[in-house]
Amino acid sequence: MIHLSEEQLQIIRIHAQKTYPEECCGILLGHLSDGGKTVVKVMSTENVWEGDTTADFPGDRQEYSKRRRYAIAPQVMLQAQKQARAQNMEIVGFYHSHPDYQAIPSEFDRLYAWPKYSYIIVAVENGISTNVNSWCLDATDLFQPEKICNLGEKL
Ligand SMILES: [Zn+2]
Repeated sequence: MIHLSEEQLQIIRIHAQKTYPEECCGILLGHLSDGGKTVVKVMSTENVWEGDTTADFPGDRQEYSKRRRYAIAPQVMLQAQKQARAQNMEIVGFYHSHPDYQAIPSEFDRLYAWPKYSYIIVAVENGISTNVNSWCLDATDLFQPEKICNLGEKL
Protein backbone atom coordinates (compact mmCIF):
# COMPACT_ATOMS: atom_id res chain seq x y z
CA MET A 1 0.00 0.00 0.00
CA ILE A 2 1.18 3.52 -0.74
CA HIS A 3 -0.13 6.57 1.10
CA LEU A 4 -0.51 9.83 -0.79
CA SER A 5 -2.39 13.00 0.05
CA GLU A 6 -4.95 14.50 -2.27
CA GLU A 7 -2.57 17.41 -2.82
CA GLN A 8 0.26 15.06 -3.89
CA LEU A 9 -2.04 13.23 -6.30
CA GLN A 10 -3.02 16.61 -7.68
CA ILE A 11 0.63 17.57 -8.29
CA ILE A 12 1.07 14.37 -10.33
CA ARG A 13 -2.15 14.92 -12.30
CA ILE A 14 -1.31 18.54 -13.12
CA HIS A 15 2.24 17.63 -14.19
CA ALA A 16 0.85 14.89 -16.45
CA GLN A 17 -1.58 17.30 -18.08
CA LYS A 18 1.09 19.94 -18.57
CA THR A 19 3.47 17.65 -20.47
CA TYR A 20 0.70 16.02 -22.56
CA PRO A 21 1.02 14.55 -25.20
CA GLU A 22 4.44 13.63 -23.83
CA GLU A 23 5.00 11.55 -20.72
CA CYS A 24 5.84 13.29 -17.47
CA CYS A 25 7.90 11.72 -14.71
CA GLY A 26 8.95 12.30 -11.15
CA ILE A 27 10.33 10.85 -7.95
CA LEU A 28 8.44 10.06 -4.76
CA LEU A 29 10.27 10.67 -1.48
CA GLY A 30 9.00 9.41 1.84
CA HIS A 31 9.10 6.64 4.40
CA LEU A 32 8.76 2.88 4.44
CA SER A 33 6.84 1.31 7.30
CA ASP A 34 4.91 -1.84 8.15
CA GLY A 35 1.79 -0.25 6.76
CA GLY A 36 3.48 0.34 3.41
CA LYS A 37 4.95 3.47 1.91
CA THR A 38 4.11 7.04 2.82
CA VAL A 39 4.92 9.75 0.32
CA VAL A 40 6.14 12.98 1.89
CA LYS A 41 7.35 14.82 -1.17
CA VAL A 42 6.53 14.59 -4.87
CA MET A 43 9.51 15.72 -6.91
CA SER A 44 8.62 16.57 -10.50
CA THR A 45 11.48 15.87 -12.89
CA GLU A 46 12.13 16.50 -16.53
CA ASN A 47 11.59 13.72 -19.03
CA VAL A 48 15.05 13.46 -20.60
CA TRP A 49 14.33 10.48 -22.84
CA GLU A 50 16.20 10.97 -26.09
CA GLY A 51 15.53 7.74 -27.90
CA ASP A 52 13.58 9.58 -30.57
CA THR A 53 16.71 11.37 -31.74
CA THR A 54 18.76 8.25 -32.28
CA ALA A 55 18.71 6.08 -35.36
CA ASP A 56 18.88 2.88 -33.33
CA PHE A 57 15.18 2.27 -33.45
CA PRO A 58 13.51 0.96 -36.56
CA GLY A 59 9.86 1.49 -37.32
CA ASP A 60 7.45 4.00 -35.89
CA ARG A 61 9.43 6.78 -34.23
CA GLN A 62 6.52 7.91 -32.09
CA GLU A 63 6.66 4.53 -30.41
CA TYR A 64 10.04 5.49 -29.01
CA SER A 65 9.51 9.18 -28.40
CA LYS A 66 8.65 10.98 -25.14
CA ARG A 67 5.03 10.19 -25.93
CA ARG A 68 5.77 6.60 -25.03
CA ARG A 69 8.94 6.70 -22.96
CA TYR A 70 10.43 8.56 -20.04
CA ALA A 71 13.82 8.84 -18.42
CA ILE A 72 15.06 10.62 -15.32
CA ALA A 73 18.59 12.06 -15.58
CA PRO A 74 21.11 10.20 -13.38
CA GLN A 75 22.27 13.45 -11.75
CA VAL A 76 18.65 14.24 -10.83
CA MET A 77 18.33 10.79 -9.26
CA LEU A 78 21.48 11.45 -7.27
CA GLN A 79 20.18 14.82 -6.09
CA ALA A 80 16.90 13.22 -5.03
CA GLN A 81 18.79 10.55 -3.10
CA LYS A 82 20.88 13.17 -1.31
CA GLN A 83 17.88 15.33 -0.53
CA ALA A 84 15.98 12.33 0.81
CA ARG A 85 18.86 11.24 3.02
CA ALA A 86 19.35 14.77 4.38
CA GLN A 87 15.72 14.76 5.51
CA ASN A 88 15.72 11.18 6.83
CA MET A 89 13.63 9.98 3.95
CA GLU A 90 14.20 7.63 1.05
CA ILE A 91 13.06 7.26 -2.51
CA VAL A 92 9.91 5.14 -2.26
CA GLY A 93 8.88 5.21 -5.90
CA PHE A 94 8.43 6.99 -9.18
CA TYR A 95 5.54 8.30 -11.23
CA HIS A 96 4.99 8.84 -14.91
CA SER A 97 2.08 9.40 -17.27
CA HIS A 98 0.60 7.44 -20.13
CA PRO A 99 -0.77 9.91 -22.69
CA ASP A 100 -3.84 8.39 -24.37
CA TYR A 101 -3.07 5.02 -22.88
CA GLN A 102 -4.22 3.01 -19.86
CA ALA A 103 -2.61 3.37 -16.44
CA ILE A 104 -0.99 -0.05 -16.72
CA PRO A 105 2.77 -0.65 -17.06
CA SER A 106 4.26 -1.34 -20.47
CA GLU A 107 6.86 -4.01 -21.08
CA PHE A 108 9.39 -1.16 -21.24
CA ASP A 109 8.26 0.01 -17.79
CA ARG A 110 8.72 -3.51 -16.45
CA LEU A 111 12.19 -3.96 -17.91
CA TYR A 112 13.40 -0.70 -16.41
CA ALA A 113 11.75 -1.12 -13.01
CA TRP A 114 13.60 -1.99 -9.83
CA PRO A 115 12.17 -4.12 -7.03
CA LYS A 116 10.74 -2.54 -3.86
CA TYR A 117 9.80 0.79 -5.47
CA SER A 118 6.26 1.88 -6.28
CA TYR A 119 5.50 2.90 -9.84
CA ILE A 120 2.56 5.24 -10.09
CA ILE A 121 1.08 5.65 -13.55
CA VAL A 122 -1.45 8.31 -14.45
CA ALA A 123 -3.47 7.95 -17.62
CA VAL A 124 -4.13 11.14 -19.60
CA GLU A 125 -6.93 11.11 -22.15
CA ASN A 126 -7.07 14.03 -24.55
CA GLY A 127 -5.09 16.15 -22.12
CA ILE A 128 -7.18 15.32 -19.03
CA SER A 129 -5.80 13.00 -16.35
CA THR A 130 -8.07 10.05 -15.55
CA ASN A 131 -7.02 6.86 -13.75
CA VAL A 132 -4.09 6.72 -11.34
CA ASN A 133 -2.68 3.31 -10.42
CA SER A 134 0.33 2.16 -8.46
CA TRP A 135 2.38 -0.93 -9.31
CA CYS A 136 5.09 -2.95 -7.61
CA LEU A 137 7.28 -5.76 -8.94
CA ASP A 138 6.67 -9.13 -7.31
CA ALA A 139 9.31 -11.82 -6.65
CA THR A 140 9.09 -12.98 -10.26
CA ASP A 141 9.63 -9.46 -11.67
CA LEU A 142 6.03 -9.02 -12.74
CA PHE A 143 4.04 -5.91 -11.87
CA GLN A 144 1.25 -6.30 -9.34
CA PRO A 145 -1.25 -3.56 -8.52
CA GLU A 146 -0.66 -1.72 -5.27
CA LYS A 147 -3.42 -0.02 -3.33
CA ILE A 148 -3.22 3.77 -3.21
CA CYS A 149 -4.42 5.05 0.14
CA ASN A 150 -5.53 8.64 0.01
CA LEU A 151 -4.59 10.33 3.27
CA GLY A 152 -7.42 12.80 2.79
CA GLU A 153 -9.91 9.97 3.05
CA LYS A 154 -11.33 9.23 6.47
CA LEU A 155 -11.79 5.51 6.98
ZN1 LIG B 1 4.92 3.68 -18.88
